[in-house]
Amino acid sequence: MTTTKSAVEAEPHLWLPYTQMQTTAAPLAVARAEGATITLEDGRVLVDGIASWWTACHGYRHPHITAALSAQLETLHHVMLGGLVHPQAKTLAKRLAGLLPGFLERVFFAESGSVAVEVAMKIAVQTQRSRGEPSRHRFVSFLGGYHGDTFATMSVCDPEEGMHHLFRDVLAPQFTRPLPTTTDEHAAFAAFLNQERHQIAAVVLEPLVQCAGGMRFHSPEDVRAIKRACDASGTLLIFDEIATGFGRTGTLFAAEACEVVPDIITLSKALTGGTLPLSCAVATREVFETFLDDDPLRALMHGPTFMGNALACAAANASVDLFESEPRVAQAKALEEALATALAPCRKLSDVIDVRCRGAIGVVELDALSPARLQRLRDAFVDRGAWIRPLGRVVYLMPPLNLTSADLDVLARALFDGLSATGSKTR
Ligand SMILES: *Cc1c(COP(=O)(O)O)cnc(C)c1O
Repeated sequence: MTTTKSAVEAEPHLWLPYTQMQTTAAPLAVARAEGATITLEDGRVLVDGIASWWTACHGYRHPHITAALSAQLETLHHVMLGGLVHPQAKTLAKRLAGLLPGFLERVFFAESGSVAVEVAMKIAVQTQRSRGEPSRHRFVSFLGGYHGDTFATMSVCDPEEGMHHLFRDVLAPQFTRPLPTTTDEHAAFAAFLNQERHQIAAVVLEPLVQCAGGMRFHSPEDVRAIKRACDASGTLLIFDEIATGFGRTGTLFAAEACEVVPDIITLSKALTGGTLPLSCAVATREVFETFLDDDPLRALMHGPTFMGNALACAAANASVDLFESEPRVAQAKALEEALATALAPCRKLSDVIDVRCRGAIGVVELDALSPARLQRLRDAFVDRGAWIRPLGRVVYLMPPLNLTSADLDVLARALFDGLSATGSKTR
């Protein structure tokens, strides 16, 4: 059964994300979600191929997180972190500092990924100022990158692919560069950074996989070259691991696989195992120490109302427990080969230009994907028991990290058959 109502007809009050409400089909009404499956109000069951924008890394409603949340409900829901503190926030900050590489150990909590990136950018500008370099307040980011939807973060997204070109004239001018992937490009990037260093506070990078901007991969060596260029020019390096963090690329953090410790790292998405909104920007000891001063105005001037929410921190602590007690990272790593095998048949489709997998990320890139076909694809996937929502012309899987092989089969089959049923020819 396929809905024919549009989103605007079906939903009189909700305003949906990135959705032309007039032409998009009504959203599917969800009754429950558990493990890797979503149950709709009409009883249909879908295997979730994208884990609710990559958040539900242990699947939905993991009993351990549910229990931790229930226990937390008995004592403390929320208090402001201005002048007050609580054990869940302290414990989580300490555990994150222990899990992250190097001396990334000072954790500033926020509620969304975009705000965490804003905070990281603010930290970078203030750090340069404390070092006596107030002119260093611009940012370098990369084509294909995505860092959020707020104004500062939009300015470091890919200006074309980044869904924000409408705002181009309103955004602060930054430097968007092609991501350097050859030895010559590494050298050219270092030369560029050195030449412009007087203006540049930091480089912002999604290490190893640029996710929402198009699911493009690059190598640990590319990341190391960017790190060397930053070191040589006194530029801070911000890793945005909001998408890649917590096992997604096959190590707990992509930074580990790159053997690079950035100055600041941002985390969110899978931080609470897909239960409650929470994010953080984590700075090295060295960066943090530039804020220590007699002058109160040289403190970090930021403070989200709901920062360090106790329920969200309890969920995140429970999620970290699961990374410690269950082989979650090994499962993510093992998914790489399983995804590659499961998606290999898509290479035979005439309009598929690439199939690539890294960790628990499987990507099928088409040469084009029209809005009309996108609608038909959604229905074709749902009819085959899968929830898959393409990004641009990329159809991808970023499922729960503990996906079973039976559920992977459902997803991969739906992906192949859905593409075939909506126009892809076998070559
Ligand atoms: C999703 C995402 C963000 C933005 O997070 P929100 O919680 O949607 O604000 C930023 N950076 C990356 C890499 C992301 O994947």
